[in-house]
Amino acid sequence: MSAPTGVNARLVLLGPPGAGKGTQAARLAQSLDVPAISTGDIFRANIKGGTQLGRTVQEYTARGELVPDSVTNAMVRDRLAQDDAAEGFLLDGYPRNVAQVAELDAILSESGRTLDLAVELTADPEVVVERLLRRAQIEGREDDTEDVIRHRLDVYAEQTAPIAQVYADRGLLVQVDGIGEVDEVTQRLLAAIGRR
Ligand code: AMP
Repeated sequence: MSAPTGVNARLVLLGPPGAGKGTQAARLAQSLDVPAISTGDIFRANIKGGTQLGRTVQEYTARGELVPDSVTNAMVRDRLAQDDAAEGFLLDGYPRNVAQVAELDAILSESGRTLDLAVELTADPEVVVERLLRRAQIEGREDDTEDVIRHRLDVYAEQTAPIAQVYADRGLLVQVDGIGEVDEVTQRLLAAIGRR
């Protein structure tokens, strides 16, 4: 898979839990030669490693609640200051509410950068519940029980879905259908990003 030419490289990937963001973010990042930065993965690694950050966030992630912005924003600020993110990045799972959108704007503008594109991976809520229940059997994630999945979808609808409109108003949003074979969805995403 080769990167489309003239591609924009500072991207956020939006979409409900279970839409396939993690899988697609890893593939896109490789194709675009930028780091995929997943706030959920960073939290899980810290919980697993028993760090202070892990202890702070564990109760939120287990319940499917958003981790407080003060914690999440500081972590993303540090991560985006690292050298590998200087030329581009693909954020997966951040921003997750309108306040985080403003924080990302601030982080980027302080270092003379701007966001190129927000890509929304769309998926029907019932399809994603099924996918997440299947993933639960494979990965055993603590937040993949049916109750917590439904709560995460509610949190997404209330707090995260509105940010797609914020990016749409800026002319930065593209939407891509997340239902289909993994390769097919990757090709759709690369085509949508390359068209910009
Ligand atoms: P994810 O792997 O993206 O589904 O994230 C798993 C969990 O990590 C979420 O349910 C939240 O508890 C937490 N989390 C991930 N990203 C964020 C964020 N940007 N803001 C707040 N909490 C987050």
